[in-house]
Amino acid sequence: MSQNEDQAQNLTELPAVARNIHLHCKKCAVDRYHVVVAHLTPTSAKVKCEVCGAQKTFKLPKAESAKKSTGTGKPRAARKKAEPDYGAVWADLKTQIGVDKILPYNMKTKFQLANAIEHPKFGVGFVTGITNEKIEVMFQEGGRALVHNRP
Ligand SMILES: [Zn+2]
Repeated sequence: MSQNEDQAQNLTELPAVARNIHLHCKKCAVDRYHVVVAHLTPTSAKVKCEVCGAQKTFKLPKAESAKKSTGTGKPRAARKKAEPDYGAVWADLKTQIGVDKILPYNMKTKFQLANAIEHPKFGVGFVTGITNEKIEVMFQEGGRALVHNRP
């Protein structure tokens, strides 16, 4: 591995357009400064040799797959698209609302928006919507409509 490859390997983000990056030029058969012409993706850019003008695509080394030589290199989060991440929404609400005061769920209780409640089956949830008869509650597993304020 040459010194210049090491330099490129250390990059964690693409150099800005019009900036220089030292890479090997196949046409010149030596390492040349290449100017960044355009960003193609968040991790790849079109670069041009400053001497011969040959263009090529520069790709950022993937930090994750570089460490794991046998890894698949596919980020796990990107694959999970089918369902919204209720856990993350719930965690956000937990941060915003807090769990200092958790009300036990009871259909006779009249709840308020942004109450933290504890349901015997679904656990801790946060009231995200409210009507006279129903509350919408976000639990860790997802949202549910529950009755409340029942005489
Ligand atoms: Zn060149």
